[in-house]
Amino acid sequence: MRLRLRDEMIAALPIMETLEEAGHEAVFVGGAVRDAVLGLPIQDVDIATSATPEETLALFPKCIPTGLQHGTVTVVQHGMTYEVTTYRAEAAYVGHRKPSEVVFIKGLDEDLLRRDFTMNAMAIQLSGELYDPCGGEGDLRASRLRCVGDPSLRFQEDALRMIRAVRFLGAYRLAPVPSLWRSLKRHAALLRHVAMERVQAELDKMLGSDVPERALIWLAASGLLSHWKEPLPGSALSKMNQAMEEWKGSAGDELQLTDMAQLPVKDERWAAVFLSLAFTGEEAGSVMSQLRFSNKRSMFISAVIDCHERMIDRGQPTRNDVAPLKRAWTEVVLTAGESAARSWLRIARTLPHNQGRLTQPSAALLASWLEDMPAKTLKELAVGGAEVLQRLNRPAGPWLSKTLSRLLLAAASGETANEKDKLLAWAENWNEEDRSDEH
Ligand code: ATP
Ligand code: MG
Repeated sequence: MRLRLRDEMIAALPIMETLEEAGHEAVFVGGAVRDAVLGLPIQDVDIATSATPEETLALFPKCIPTGLQHGTVTVVQHGMTYEVTTYRAEAAYVGHRKPSEVVFIKGLDEDLLRRDFTMNAMAIQLSGELYDPCGGEGDLRASRLRCVGDPSLRFQEDALRMIRAVRFLGAYRLAPVPSLWRSLKRHAALLRHVAMERVQAELDKMLGSDVPERALIWLAASGLLSHWKEPLPGSALSKMNQAMEEWKGSAGDELQLTDMAQLPVKDERWAAVFLSLAFTGEEAGSVMSQLRFSNKRSMFISAVIDCHERMIDRGQPTRNDVAPLKRAWTEVVLTAGESAARSWLRIARTLPHNQGRLTQPSAALLASWLEDMPAKTLKELAVGGAEVLQRLNRPAGPWLSKTLSRLLLAAASGETANEKDKLLAWAENWNEEDRSDEH
């Protein structure tokens, strides 16, 4: 079958031509071929070649020896980077994860045979001709996920393939052939050989896909969640298992899970999943640290969960309790930060009803208060520490930051205007009370 080359592939043709003119073979491989066959947007364009890494290095003035031991050279062209990898075969695998040895070879067939799934084992030649010895295209058209070769062996060689399988089943709306699914369930315990960083990367891709719920259902059904290298906290695992029982009977659209299509930001999706599963902040924190989330990501997600925990018990606001609700919301915005508060507003609208979904009128009310909040950070407060010190004529001490936080809350909630004189007068009063409390 001949395909019309995609623009991203056409841009890489000069690299392929250089390799071919020097007497080597060069083809497009991997995810870009799969996505091109499906007519989906393509990500990185990867090239496989019969040239050795040294031969590739010698042909291109601008290249980086990214992973020479695996045969990968990154070629830079017009500001774009392309991974050019020598055809290779993999000797016996060690530790259910990595081949003990990589052997460079001259034939494309064997290189394709080492790949994980038939849909990832296709190549496109310079002419646009699809080379597909494993029948990947047919499997894709039939929405089938199939391993190259015996699934049981392939999962035992490299346990990462099991979680990749789950991701592809979800993101590409596939169904596994029965032998793949049987083998995956049989070997699920081998996932403990996979580094947590890799698990994070796969889960991230699952949540980033168009239909994250699908991958999560497959993940739950696979049994893989019980076999992380660093086991999930017992309470988190039992919450997931409970959700899994509920998911089993559901047809996707009835899933007791957040509607993630409405959340374009990946970390909002993570927060939404944790909240849908009724994880506490502590449980989510341990899972994120196990998965090696960066501090920045886990602080943001924790702040969103914190907003939820502090707001949700209040129920939906009614006419009578508007003032306390506004006060509580103001405190939440000031401590969690505006960005986490805005994210929570978006997420809470999408949660399942039993996990405290926020109604549209409540969300609109909280959002309007947020818009109108006169100050949300100390920077926006109309007075600074020096002015407060001077006015109160009191030596600096821990009281100062306490006073500034209290002033911010007063300004943000409208107890006083965000104006210098009013704030200083307010600080004076408050300071008197504070001091008399001390005596
Ligand atoms: P995506 O880039 O969308 O995550 P991909 O299939 O391109 O998906 P990569 O990790 O970029 O994934 O790998 C490129 C190719 O390398 C794959 O298409 C597959 O052919 C092969 N591959 C990747 N990981 C494995 C593995 N663990 N075992 C066997 N082959 C693999
Ligand atoms: Mg890729």
